[in-house]
Amino acid sequence: MKVYLDNAATTKPLATVVSIVNELMIDDYGNPSSMHAMGLNAEKIIKKSREYVAKALDVEEKEVYFTSGATESNNTAIFGAVNQMKRQRKHIITSKIEHPSVLMCMEKLEQEGFSVTYLNVDKDGIIDVEELKNSIREDTILVSVMAVNNEIGAVEPLNEIYKLKNKYNFIFHTDAVQAFKKISVEQFNMADLITISGHKIHGLKGIGALIVKEDVKIKPLILGGGQERGFRSGTENIVGIASLGAAASFTMHTDRVLELKNKLALELSNIPGIVINNKNAKAPHILNISFTGKRGEVILHELEAKGIYVSTGSACHSNKFGESHVLSAIGMNKNDIGAAIRISLGEFNTEKEIEYVIESIKEIVR
Ligand code: PMP
Repeated sequence: MKVYLDNAATTKPLATVVSIVNELMIDDYGNPSSMHAMGLNAEKIIKKSREYVAKALDVEEKEVYFTSGATESNNTAIFGAVNQMKRQRKHIITSKIEHPSVLMCMEKLEQEGFSVTYLNVDKDGIIDVEELKNSIREDTILVSVMAVNNEIGAVEPLNEIYKLKNKYNFIFHTDAVQAFKKISVEQFNMADLITISGHKIHGLKGIGALIVKEDVKIKPLILGGGQERGFRSGTENIVGIASLGAAASFTMHTDRVLELKNKLALELSNIPGIVINNKNAKAPHILNISFTGKRGEVILHELEAKGIYVSTGSACHSNKFGESHVLSAIGMNKNDIGAAIRISLGEFNTEKEIEYVIESIKEIVR
């Protein structure tokens, strides 16, 4: 049996995505900037996808800008906001558990002389809103806090940040990669800048979007031919954009995913030697567990031998962050961090698969 449980790293493309890709590559390969019918057709595909993404996020179509993925969206949001305001202001706030595509930008800005506050999180990975409030300065440009953490599924209190935004005057960015299509949009679509990614929601890799609210001004990062209304140059990735549109408009069954996660968590918590590291996580798809006295990568390969694919920590960060900075920030000790694996569920997992995983883990522990 093959059981894919690494959906926070990437997901299987939907069948509709695969057929759209096939169709577009054979017939509709025009450049939307071309003035002939094939160009016009490509433009229509982008328009339709923008409509789907806007609808799924409950934002305006004109607020959606397609990018090459969440890494670019995060870079654009952060540097775009800073470049807009760097003459007057020098301070940025983020959290200690952001994705490297946020943290590396912060590091670069610090090297350039900006001051960055890294908010602490509690044992569940949740920021302290009081600490945030106390960190806001007159020269704060940006607050960037993710909606859902990719290693432990913590859902951050973005509504509280939004309330502060209305009182103080900063730009509010959220990396919503692990939130989009997983939790309700009201929990994250109030941010000024919102990052999403195609391949985390059963679309293609190399496509994402940055939502820029109409009243927010940030500088573009990629200059050139003026595509995406001058905000993001480069010939549009039509196939990717179409895949993002299709995935965004697809009805995901998150209740079912949550049920499977809860079943898995309950059964695993009864196995001696297994600790659930994210008991209170509100995200429906991420379970983080440690195998006391064992190494996460050893367990990963033992599971792999049984056809089960999981991850240690997060699959997508560079070695620079080494041992999970997220698990460390929630106060776990080095041994438990080294013993951790992340199981992330998705749309296509079944109850039968979860039962097989439970039995397999029992066997491994034995
Ligand atoms: N942010 C988060 C929270 C993520 O999980 C990921 C993917 N690991 C990214 C950003 C980067 O996404 P992409 O692969 O689309 O650049």
